[in-house]
Amino acid sequence: MTLVNDAAPAAVRSDGRKFRAYTAKHLDELTARAGLPSGQRLAIQAVATVLPFRTNSYVVEELIDWSAAPDDPIYRLVFPQEDMLPAEDVARIADLLRRKAPRTEVEMAAHAVRMKLNPHPAGQLQLNIPTFHDQPMPGVQHKYRETLLFFPKQGQTCHAYCTYCFRWAQFVGEPDLKMAADDVEQLQRYLLAHPEVTSVLFTGGDAMIMGESVLRRYIEPLLALDQIESIRIGTKSLAYWPQKFVTDPDADDMLRLFSEVVKAGKNLAFMAHFTHPRELEPPVVQEASRRIQDTGAIIRTQAPLIRTINDASEVWETMWRQQLRLGMVPYYLFVERDTGPQDYFAVPLAQAYEIFRNAYKNVSGLCRTVRGPSMSATPGKVCVDGVVEVFGEKVFALHFIQARDPELVGKPFFAKYDPAAVWLDDLKPAFADRFPFETSIPVPADG
Ligand SMILES: *Cc1c(COP(=O)(O)O)cnc(C)c1O
Repeated sequence: MTLVNDAAPAAVRSDGRKFRAYTAKHLDELTARAGLPSGQRLAIQAVATVLPFRTNSYVVEELIDWSAAPDDPIYRLVFPQEDMLPAEDVARIADLLRRKAPRTEVEMAAHAVRMKLNPHPAGQLQLNIPTFHDQPMPGVQHKYRETLLFFPKQGQTCHAYCTYCFRWAQFVGEPDLKMAADDVEQLQRYLLAHPEVTSVLFTGGDAMIMGESVLRRYIEPLLALDQIESIRIGTKSLAYWPQKFVTDPDADDMLRLFSEVVKAGKNLAFMAHFTHPRELEPPVVQEASRRIQDTGAIIRTQAPLIRTINDASEVWETMWRQQLRLGMVPYYLFVERDTGPQDYFAVPLAQAYEIFRNAYKNVSGLCRTVRGPSMSATPGKVCVDGVVEVFGEKVFALHFIQARDPELVGKPFFAKYDPAAVWLDDLKPAFADRFPFETSIPVPADG
């Protein structure tokens, strides 16, 4: 009997336990399931030559409400939409696909469209990559004094891709846009030379795409470093593949690794990306969340505010309340970054602030650990505190939650009210001729 089961992958799949990815080659079948006509399906395939598409059996079978597709928020979270890109670009690529043009021709057209989409926002490539002994360290970003971001080479994909992903350029085969590192010893040496770093944040992609043995190779060397107070893992796995912590073959080993971090006296911060309350509903998510917290890890939650997916205060209120019940700590509500199909997903700052406040005012103080709306911009993380009238002038009140220049953190500043502004560089200073960050932008000291 055991042998029969082992030889029957279909049976294993049918209980949803085995990870199965869906890529662009499944797109037509899936968009047909959403009831879309063939012309629209071709346009969506054209968009998917420019922007990455990947989902999986759990998202498709457990999270999406197909009776509501294509308007369902979880459907919109993972499936490209034909109006995400300029109509003439979509039409040109759709025409190439219809004519069955050679792959290289399609790829060249897609590449040209990508280059118009600000693939690396916030000076990520030029400003944040540190050098060590005069060598740049690819796959490492050191923007804020105390926190180092590390992009492990094996963590550069996700269990599914979000349509609004700000790191989309990494997933579409643009080789010179990739950021990834695999040199653990160099990381360790850099940290020893930078005792001001107390937190290492593993990100990607998704750090939880890695198996336990690979992740262990990155994490174990950090446990011996006394300066490290916290290890963070940026991940959407709890939403997209909670089986990772429940039924995957290395689930128990992974949880043991988490316990070891906690036993070594470090805070293991599991930075969970949840976009919509539906992602918290399946029992397997709640089971995974409980198992992670049983290791002593703290789950903190964050997501961007996205037009047509979660741009209503009730969505955030419901999400924070449910996260609180599950023992999670709401952390950030982000403003969608100025990259990719930003025009499509952007919510103006004034509206983002209203959505945030209308949710925030209704929840208990325990949920008010959340901060936002926060823009991860070139000089730092800027929070929109509100819209106020000062001596008859309507302005945005803002402050830095994080800044390249630590002196700016926590200091209020003002910008002229503009109902259409969607990002920091749309704003003009109020009561001053420049913003506090416009005097100078110091680049972090390097090795
Ligand atoms: C958000 C972010 C961090 C972490 O900042 P916290 O405010 O400590 O959560 C670190 N590095 C970069 C580049 C970031 O964008």
